[in-house]
Parts: sequence; C-alpha cells; structure tokens
Amino acid sequence: MPELPEVETVRRGLDRILVGKQILSVDVLNDKTLQFAHTDLNTFVIGAKVVAVRRRAKMLIIDLDSDYSLLVHLKMTGQMVWRGAESWAAGHPNDSMVGDLPDRTTRIIFNFDDGQLFFNDQRKFGWIRLYPTNTLSDTPELAKLGPEPLTSDPTISFLRRIRRHPRTSIKAAILNQQVIVGVGNIYADESLWLAKVHPQTRVEGLSDDELLHLLECIQKSLQAGLNSGGSTMRNYVRVDGTRGNYLDKFAHVYGREGEPCDRCGHEIIKIKVAGRGTHICPNCQKLR
Ligand SMILES: [Zn+2]
Repeated sequence: MPELPEVETVRRGLDRILVGKQILSVDVLNDKTLQFAHTDLNTFVIGAKVVAVRRRAKMLIIDLDSDYSLLVHLKMTGQMVWRGAESWAAGHPNDSMVGDLPDRTTRIIFNFDDGQLFFNDQRKFGWIRLYPTNTLSDTPELAKLGPEPLTSDPTISFLRRIRRHPRTSIKAAILNQQVIVGVGNIYADESLWLAKVHPQTRVEGLSDDELLHLLECIQKSLQAGLNSGGSTMRNYVRVDGTRGNYLDKFAHVYGREGEPCDRCGHEIIKIKVAGRGTHICPNCQKLR
C-alpha cells in the first residue's frame, strides 16, 4: 500500500499538472471505482476546472471550481498516469505506468483538452468519491483522523490522542490513524528504531518527552521517504520518470532482518507486534 510519502509524491505531480485545467469528460470503465451517483458527474465534475490538489492522510483531494471535491484513495495498487505533452506517473509501480493506455487496469479516465489522466488500479480496491468542498472535514473518511505529521504542528493533538490508549503497544498506537495519520508498517518500524523504543512497549510506559521524541523520529522518517521519492518494497516511478530507490538509501531495519544494525552492529530480527511483521534491533530497542 502506498504510504504517506508516496501519496504526497502523487499529490505534488497532480497539483503541478492539473491546476487550472478543465475536465471535458470522464470515462468510467469500472462502475465500482466511482463511488457516487454518476449523474453528479455531469452536474459537478464535467466542465469544472481543477482549483487545487490537496492531501489528507493517504487520500488525495481534487478541488473543483464547482465547489465540489473528488476524494481519491489509491488503496493497494492505485496509480495516476498523465498522458499529454509530457508523460507522468506515480503511485503503485507496474508496467501500466509506461505502456499503452487504457489497459486492463484502467478504471477511470479524466479527459482534458491537452491530455488524459488515467486512474489505474489492478486490484480494484481504490475509489473516487465526491463531496461539497466545505463539508469534506465532516465526512466519515476525514472526520476522526489524527493530525498530519508533516504539514501541521501535531504535538499537542498527538499527545492527547495517544494517551487515550495507555495499554496499547506503541507500534499499534502510532499505526492508529486517529492518533496520527500516514504512518504505515515501514515508517512505524523505522521511527521506533530511530527513537530506540521497543515496539511492544505500552504507551503508559513512555513519558511525554519520550513520546515527543518518537514523534520527531516519525517526522524524520517520513521526510526521508519523501525526499528520496518514496517507495514501498518495490521502487516507484517518480515525477521525472526515474525510479526512487528510497529503501536502499533510507531503511535501517525494514526488510533487513539478518543484516547488522547501522548503529551497533547487532543482528536485526523480525518479530510480530500488533499482528504485523516488525523489524527491530534487539540491542538498541530493549523491552523495559
Ligand atoms: Zn542496534
């Protein structure tokens, strides 16, 4: 699944390419991807211009001058591909990024006068919904979300929210999108290693200072992912068409079981925490 840096990479590309452009028509190749009344396409989407492309957690928000917004979730295999004078693609990496489109993964096509935006999604879990822009923050998708780690000062909200889960393991707590958004399995493992905190430590076992230090480590990890183009296990194609090799450059523990810890040389091991495969250095991250 794309994590926050990948979705932010998609957002930056779409914002650069789409703003100011008018949607001339929309081709719906898979009904279930477009999760709103199709008649609303004619009323609020077709003929509208793109005002901005924003992100909340791992969702993209495409604001239109009809005062409606498209809310997009890429889920596991979603990708956005622009074909016009330039070719651009970001999201889940596969051959659809570079091959002839539409192909059998194409679900929705937005047609502009100078190009086409393809929403491709192999597994079909991704979706596009439509809401009045001024009601977005009250929607079920957005209403309960925790603070953004990178684009706001999340400190006070993070502390208040994480303290609601005193007996939860710290890893499960930071994966909870109501505590802080955008932390997936990779960034949870990386930030806990950076902070030297064992993932099974209960929230109540950490002081406010320790929690805030962990928050800084979460921000550092996400920023490092963003700076290197973002990726999960396989590399993603970036805005400029090159492949981001973020894991090679950045991962200290994720996917590195059996290798030596960058800090102390001890062997990295893989354990299970909160039902998720979890990578730690047992020397740097001792359970207190
Ligand atoms: Zn270590």
